[in-house]
Amino acid sequence: MAALQAEDVNADDCLTSYTYIYSPDLLKNQVAFITGGGSGIGFRIAEVFMRHGCDTVIASRNMDKLKQAAKTLTEATGRRCLPLCMDVRQPESIMAAVDETLKELGCIDILVNNAAGNFLCPATSLSFNAFKTVVEIDTMGTFNTCKVVYDKWFKDHGGNIVNISATLGYKGQVLQVHAGSAKAANDAMTRHLAVEWGPSGVRVNAVAPGPISGTEGFRRLAGHSAEAAGVFQSIPLQRAGNKTEMAHCTLFLASRASSYVTGAILVADGGTWLTLPNDVSMLLGYWSSEKNREK
Ligand code: NAP
Repeated sequence: MAALQAEDVNADDCLTSYTYIYSPDLLKNQVAFITGGGSGIGFRIAEVFMRHGCDTVIASRNMDKLKQAAKTLTEATGRRCLPLCMDVRQPESIMAAVDETLKELGCIDILVNNAAGNFLCPATSLSFNAFKTVVEIDTMGTFNTCKVVYDKWFKDHGGNIVNISATLGYKGQVLQVHAGSAKAANDAMTRHLAVEWGPSGVRVNAVAPGPISGTEGFRRLAGHSAEAAGVFQSIPLQRAGNKTEMAHCTLFLASRASSYVTGAILVADGGTWLTLPNDVSMLLGYWSSEKNREK
């Protein structure tokens, strides 16, 4: 029997129905600051948090996308969602967004570091700049945002940080040296900050998703071809995960349901990294055929 999965919709749209697993007031009157909350997994995290009584800030670079997402989220949940333009590589823009959040919503209880960039590329074809950009967004961006939120609020009030990670570095996933290295650094950062900030009442944890349907990551990382080729049959749970499932894991770590958990990385991948092939020649072949198709 296939494992039960939560409801989801593929687009960056709200769920058409929702069954509560947790108490609906689990995050009542809290405020969550979610980077990259205008699309994909971050959008669904915002929605599920709002369905549990939380107001949210969704922060990234594309303001048109954020405004549309905030409108959709508020209409579906009745909670406030503040869209803010910010680049995680620019500390000044994060400071301005956090100041605006505190002015508009009064506090920050939860920070979700979800913003990231990714694509498939073999190391030999990866430019210096491409590697640097991924590390700047995924790793430095996570540190920058943690530091600003800690300095401006968590230091004196405590709080919860959830970093959205990946399992790519566990086995050295082919064509992913950039994101795998960046997320491995983030996992170390999760533990370092958990140790240093625990005494201030700040918990720091991570969710490491596997292949998640209905996301840009899934599209860019050949998820559909893998699904069509039956590759997911080799995963212990035999399917891709969905965004709602990732939002539920994030909700667990962001809420009092996990009050004694810090420095933990919750792998939510259906067992993917344990069994998915990491075959250099097969994936390089796929990558070159996709490149040729783009030409
Ligand atoms: P996505 O929709 O592309 O989400 C990434 C978000 O990050 C976008 O909303 C983007 O918004 C924002 N962003 C990118 N660069 C930014 C920057 N410099 N400053 C601020 N925001 C920035 O992708 P997703 O697939 O849902 O991925 C979400 C997270 O899950 C990522 O951390 C990813 O590594 C992780 N993950 C995903 C999968 C998967 O299968 N999808 C698997 C493992 C891990 P703007 O363009 O508006 O800036």
